[in-house]
Amino acid sequence: MSEITTTSAHPTQSAFDIVMKNFDHAARYVDIDPGYAELIKSVDREVRVEIPTRLDNGDLRVLIGYRLQHNNARGAYKGGIRYHQDVDLDEVRALAALMTLKTAVVGIPYGGGKGGVTVDPGTLSPTELERMSRMFIDKIDPIIGPQEDILAPDVNTNAQVMAWMMDEYSRRHGHSPGIVTGKPIELGGSQGREEATGRGAVIVLREAANIYELDLNNASIAIQGFGNVGSYAAWTLDKLGVKIIAISDISGAVVNSDGLNIPEAIRYVKKHRSLKGFDGGDRISNEELLEMDCDVLIPAALGRVININNAEDIKAKMIIEGANEPITGKADVILNDKGVIVVPDIVANAGGVTASYFEWVQNLQQFHWELEEVRHKLEHILITSFQHIYALAEEHEVSLRLAAYILAIERLEKATRLRGV
Ligand code: NAD
Repeated sequence: MSEITTTSAHPTQSAFDIVMKNFDHAARYVDIDPGYAELIKSVDREVRVEIPTRLDNGDLRVLIGYRLQHNNARGAYKGGIRYHQDVDLDEVRALAALMTLKTAVVGIPYGGGKGGVTVDPGTLSPTELERMSRMFIDKIDPIIGPQEDILAPDVNTNAQVMAWMMDEYSRRHGHSPGIVTGKPIELGGSQGREEATGRGAVIVLREAANIYELDLNNASIAIQGFGNVGSYAAWTLDKLGVKIIAISDISGAVVNSDGLNIPEAIRYVKKHRSLKGFDGGDRISNEELLEMDCDVLIPAALGRVININNAEDIKAKMIIEGANEPITGKADVILNDKGVIVVPDIVANAGGVTASYFEWVQNLQQFHWELEEVRHKLEHILITSFQHIYALAEEHEVSLRLAAYILAIERLEKATRLRGV
């Protein structure tokens, strides 16, 4: 399919179509039966729900939510919940499929799912947000469960939202910490989960930099998005002494070629909830950040921000996909032709779901791991996965993205065959 306009605000390719095209391309390197390929690609179950939400002023607002279960050949469905005005079926399908591939790439015993509510959470008060979150769980209750489908945070959802969701589910089923990951530590969350996606992106970046001989000590990094993933990636890099020259959030970007003061930026955002007004550098737009001169670019906000409109103008030597699907299929081809090394989302941001898996294991065992244990296990899984992908990329002479898809498809086909249809 050619580039189409989706129902979201992105004037780019369909999000699900991009994943499927990559799948089909990678499947040519795997001797997969077409029937099995179809079975793995298609979404197992799609649920759309109405979420009637009582507002503080007594009015009723009806929101639309989704929970999609893409594939559970390797384990229970697993995936985040996004609150955003652009959430639509196409995007949730893509994110659910990416989860199936991601959990296969890092070899954890999960499948893939995803959910979301089409809402700008900034328009809701905290009490309205809580009522909406609880009502959403009420509506999807029949299809989720700690051994069936496990939820997690994503864009605009956090530990507090997970706490409400766990509480709502537990009211019906008894204490069930394993129904969500990314919970507050006090409610069974794991040490190291909050930082895991950003930290994981840096672990993978370090490994890639080693292999591709990029000296991080003399490198400049630009990060788009300063939420969970972007801010923890920045924090981890800063601790390693790596220079970050640009950061951004929805309010725009801040750039300083001498390096930004990251701890100060984090303190600022904690206090003001945004980078708006942060004076640690010059202001530029998010678009300018993506195209700026830097060694490594970490898109860590929304999907499809690098597309045919700006791919030619990207100057970074390496891109670490902190966000899910930040690059469209066409842009990916352009970047490949330019020789940009792209470390794909299904390994670059897999630190989150890997630590979620650790959290879930601890919940099931009713046992608690120390931070160092979580960090050590996370590092081991991500480094091993990256090396595996790199070896496949070399063997087949393909991009890291195709190599990651090849690894995932091989594992998914094996699991599907072993189970039997
Ligand atoms: P978040 O809500 O914590 O942060 C999102 C950030 O992006 C915020 O700083 C926000 O201001 C910024 N942003 C929003 N719209 C923007 C725009 N138009 N331009 C620039 N910046 C914008 O979300 P997050 O959890 O950090 O997720 C970011 C990305 O990482 C998403 O693609 C998500 O799917 C992916 N991801 C998250 C996790 C996780 O564990 N949280 C795991 C894997 C992948």
